[in-house]
Amino acid sequence: MPISESMVQEIVQEVMAKMQIAEAPAGKHGIFKDMNDAIEAAKKSEQIVRCMSMDQREKIISIIRRKIKENAEVLARMGVEETGMGNVGDKIIKHHLVADTTPGTEDITTTAWSGDRGLTLIEMGPFGVIGAITPSTNPSETVLCNTIGMLAGGNTVVFNPHPAAKKTTIYAINLVNEASLEGGGPDNVAVTVEDPTMESSNIMMKHKDIPLIVATGGPGVVTAVLSSGKRGIGAGAGNPPALVDETADVRKAAQDIVNGCTFDNNLPCIAEKEIVAVSSVVDELMHYMITENDCYLASKEEQDKLVSVVLQNGRLNRKCVGRDARTLLSMIGVDAPANIRCITFEGPKEHPLITTELMMPILGVVRAKDFDDAVEQAVWLEHGNRHSAHIHSKNVDHITKYAKAIDTAILVKNGPSYAALGFGGEGYATFTIASRTGEGLTSAQTFTKRRRCVMSDSLCIR
Ligand code: NAD
Repeated sequence: MPISESMVQEIVQEVMAKMQIAEAPAGKHGIFKDMNDAIEAAKKSEQIVRCMSMDQREKIISIIRRKIKENAEVLARMGVEETGMGNVGDKIIKHHLVADTTPGTEDITTTAWSGDRGLTLIEMGPFGVIGAITPSTNPSETVLCNTIGMLAGGNTVVFNPHPAAKKTTIYAINLVNEASLEGGGPDNVAVTVEDPTMESSNIMMKHKDIPLIVATGGPGVVTAVLSSGKRGIGAGAGNPPALVDETADVRKAAQDIVNGCTFDNNLPCIAEKEIVAVSSVVDELMHYMITENDCYLASKEEQDKLVSVVLQNGRLNRKCVGRDARTLLSMIGVDAPANIRCITFEGPKEHPLITTELMMPILGVVRAKDFDDAVEQAVWLEHGNRHSAHIHSKNVDHITKYAKAIDTAILVKNGPSYAALGFGGEGYATFTIASRTGEGLTSAQTFTKRRRCVMSDSLCIR
């Protein structure tokens, strides 16, 4: 049968398509088609990493840090383009935070007792190959931060990222493997699959070579990991309230809260999601939010329209998550001035835009009759996530009472929420805050096992 022009075209297209799929991983380190193959590769590299000196690990980590900085803008743009969420400027800052302040091997410390009966040490050793599930909201930030901490602890890592952020994740994973190779380490210190799915996630969670699973995401994934029968670290959802009492510097509180809320379009799980203020300061606070901090005051009708766009059948409309305030307003037909970066209104704590973790720059303000009422409403709004909360107050008794009542992994006092990540505050950065399982802000030592090494009756020279 003679081959027609169109048949030739069809064959060429078919071959090209196959070549593209086959070529996808070429030149990309740590990317596999099959989850079992990815785990096997991470297991092999783990045998090498386990025997590395701390100096060697640190050398690779320093190259990862350099590469993150060199690629911060590319990663930020890629994350925004692929997920449609957040903004490039803030994502660049987040990548620099990861590069500069994620703890490395210095975080792995030893506890010692010595005395008449000898010397006993607690050493922190690796788990092996860690399985990590990562969110769409901070995709490369989480992958890079997790890898630095896990590698510092002597582990390698298999990622099952959010499918909506796989391209950005693949770029980040390739980057850390290039750093490892450049530093004399093995390939595949971090791996993933080309097409992450629930199935690949299940394979990872059940695999005999994965002793620890670290889940960063919403309630569904944390529950799944904690039901896996393996040790799990669960970094789950939050809905952080910012409480403002009558002793606060109200003008500064307005600025800090709006800055924290609008950072990366409210994507960070620690970001202010609503305000609870005592009645005597509500009007002043909203005045400063609107006149000095670019907030748009939404009418009742506009709030209702926002509810119907942002929440559909009680679920978050993903097309609104991580969008800026002007885009959200344009979705309800409001052409807001160019400076607007946040939407505000006063409402009860049960208001759907207040009680739901929206991850959008919408800051509802709840009026409380006094401080005790404010604490009660804020605790209710945090929904028992035990994740993050913030307070603006000069009264230490108030701060202490709130801290005990809300019992969260993070409590920022008199600053924007991102101070908790070491941006405008002391301390290190992490993008995995283990709220559900209690480890808090994870770092290299979170990803290690404690081992007791005992020398009986010797080595004490006191
Ligand atoms: P998401 O829960 O939709 O997805 C997170 C990850 O879990 C993705 O990789 C997804 O594919 C996977 N996943 C979801 N359900 C699963 C299940 N049942 N079994 C296995 N895997 C599952 O979250 P998202 O929208 O990407 O991220 C936003 C959420 O994550 C928010 O709730 C936010 O507060 C939370 N978050 C928490 C932290 C933290 O450190 N605590 C950090 C970032 C984000």
